[in-house]
This record gives sequence, C-alpha cells and structure tokens, in this order.
Amino acid sequence: MVEMSKYMRKILSDVPTLKVFDFSQYVSKIPGIIKFTIGEPDFDTPEYIKEAGIKSIENNRTHYAPQRGTVGLRQAVADTLAKKYGLHYDPATEILVTNGVTEGISTAITAITNPGDIILVPTPTFSIYTPDVMIAGGTPVEVDTSKTGFKLTPALLQQYLNKYGDRVKGVVFVNPSNPTGIAYSQAEMNELAALIKGKPIFAICDEIYSELNYDGEYSSMAKVIPEQTILANGFSKSYAMTGWRIGYLCAPAKVTDLLFKVHAFAVTDIATFVQDAAEAALKAGDEATKEMDAQYIKRRDYMYKRLTEMGFECSQPMGAFYIFAKIPSFLDQDDNKLIYQLANDAKVAVTAGSNFGKGGEGYLRFSYATGMDQIKEGMDRLAAFCKKEQGN
Ligand code: PLP
Repeated sequence: MVEMSKYMRKILSDVPTLKVFDFSQYVSKIPGIIKFTIGEPDFDTPEYIKEAGIKSIENNRTHYAPQRGTVGLRQAVADTLAKKYGLHYDPATEILVTNGVTEGISTAITAITNPGDIILVPTPTFSIYTPDVMIAGGTPVEVDTSKTGFKLTPALLQQYLNKYGDRVKGVVFVNPSNPTGIAYSQAEMNELAALIKGKPIFAICDEIYSELNYDGEYSSMAKVIPEQTILANGFSKSYAMTGWRIGYLCAPAKVTDLLFKVHAFAVTDIATFVQDAAEAALKAGDEATKEMDAQYIKRRDYMYKRLTEMGFECSQPMGAFYIFAKIPSFLDQDDNKLIYQLANDAKVAVTAGSNFGKGGEGYLRFSYATGMDQIKEGMDRLAAFCKKEQGN
C-alpha cells in the first residue's frame, strides 16, 4: 500500500486542510446547496486579460520564461506599486514572479527559515503559513488575536518577542485578512514595525487582498521597513485570475536572490503567456477591479445586515470578501459540528472558524464571492433555520 510520508502525514494531520477537504467533498453531494465556502471570485477573468493571453500564445510565447519573470511583467509590477502605493522596487533585482501567492509565501518561508526558527502567525488566518513553516523545518507559533479585534497589537507582538527572543525569524501579516476582513491602518503598521525594526526579523506580508480594501487606505510594512519586508501579492482575487496561477514577491535585492534560488529550484518559471496576460491586467488600470469591488461592497452590506439581524455578532469587514461571524448562543457552539448541521438542514455551506487557527473557534466564515441571488436565497435559508432553532 502506498502511504504518504510520515513527515507530511504529521504536518497535514496538525493542520485543518484535510478537514476542509472532507467537508467540501461532503457538501458536493448535497444537491442545491448554496456555498458560502468559496474563496474565489465568481467573476470571469476580464476579456482584455484573456485576449492578451491568447495573443501571446498565438505569438508563440510558449517557451521557457526568464526565471525571475518576464521583463515586461516585472516592470509593470514595479510601475504599479510605485504609482498606487508609493513602493519602490527595482524590477531587475527586487521582484520575482511566482506561481500565485501560495508559492510566493512557501518560497519566502522556505528561503529564510532555519530549523528551530519561530515564525509568528497571527490567527485566525488563512491556512498556508503554519504548514509552510513546518515543512521548512521551523516552528510556527500562532498568536490568537480574537481578543484584540483580530489584529496583532503592539502589546501582543511584544509579549511574543519577549517570550521567544531571537528565535523569532518572521511575523506574518495578512492585510486585508482572510478570514476576518480586517485591515490595518498605516499608523497601526508603523507601531508594529517599530518593534521589529533593526532586528533580524522579517515581516512576511500577504497582500493578495490589497485591491479589495473597500474603506481604508493602503497600508503595508513595506512602507516602513522595506529592508525587512517580503511582500507577496498576486492576480487571483483582484483580477479574477485564480486559475492562471500567478503572483509575485518583492524584497530587497539580497533577499530576492535567496527567494529566486528556491523558486528556480522548485518551480523553474511561470508560463510566459500567463505573465503577458498579467502584465496586460496591470497596464489597463483599475476599471475591471473597481467594477468587481462595487459588487462586493453591495453583497457585503447586504450579508452583514442579514447576519446581524439573525443574531450573528460580526464586524463589518473592511476588505477581502469574507464575513467572520460569531455563532449566536442559540446555535451549537461547536463550529465544526454546526457546519454539518447547516449543510444538512439549511442547505447552506460555510467554513468552520476553527479551521483558521487559534481564536477561530465558535465562529463561521461566510464568503460573499458569490452572486447576489445566491446570497439572498442562502440568507433566507439561514434565517429560517435560526428561527426554527429558537423555537419560533
Ligand atoms: N493568501 C490568502 C490570504 C488567500 O486567502 C488566498 C486564497 O484564498 C491565497 C493567498 C492564495 O493566493 P493565490 O491564488 O495567488 O495562490
């Protein structure tokens, strides 16, 4: 019998990935279920981006690509970051094109983590960072932010820096956040940056939702401590390009050299025509993203209102496309049980909060990356379920 290696089995048994997988298999067998589980835009990739990809293939841009990424895409990334966010990266030495942010984060963590090094992972958060650190041989330490508005605060960060001292090699920042939808202000970022500035600690920043930041300013560690920041971003969410598998890392040249070596070894390079399409996406400006954002905001407002009326305690998300809602007292408080009950009885699928690490227990994540009709019907079903559970 072929079995998974003991090493990977141990890592995967410690993370919720398999539970999430089991639930999505279960849900796929329930006809007519409405899914609020999906962290993927329901929009198709805009036409002008698809056309750029097709044209690129027709022009035989189908050979191996430069391993750091095409010159055109790296330049477009540098120009976009400078124009929109005031960040300055040299496209020749400080930008690396990756297979989505997923590969970017894995490459970053693998490149900097030694056995025994600690990477602080504020939770609840997306599920890749903890296993990435384990695979790299480091020790992930989850920092529960559920008592501090789902944000890492200076006091909390200082507490962990005091506890683990120079074993801390990195801190993960996901801004805006999946699953909580919070976003840091630049002032908050500055205070956190001050605590690690000048120390051999990296800020590992996942900014995949930077374009889906509805209310606030763009904020980043890269604005204050660029010399210690590894910034990951991509096209999956903002340009509805999940299946194209493309993203990028930005970091000081010396760090990018390390990232490049890990990437070139593991991935080689990213398909040229995909890079050409991504370049077209950036060069065309914000129109397509703005249209999608407008839809997300309408859905967010509607869903937030309905959930609050039902008795879910949640704060209005500032970015990304998720609402992280506290389970009301009249429902089963075990989020992993409740999701099955909701799937069976209400025909609504949501993600259990505990799958996002410490502090997520007792919460549910609702994705609003689905059409308004589905959202309305799903909220009606959930409201009926809640009413029944309350006995009226
Ligand atoms: N980072 C976060 C915070 C996410 O929520 C997701 C997808 O849900 C990803 C990264 C994956 O990004 P990509 O498709 O670029 O690999």
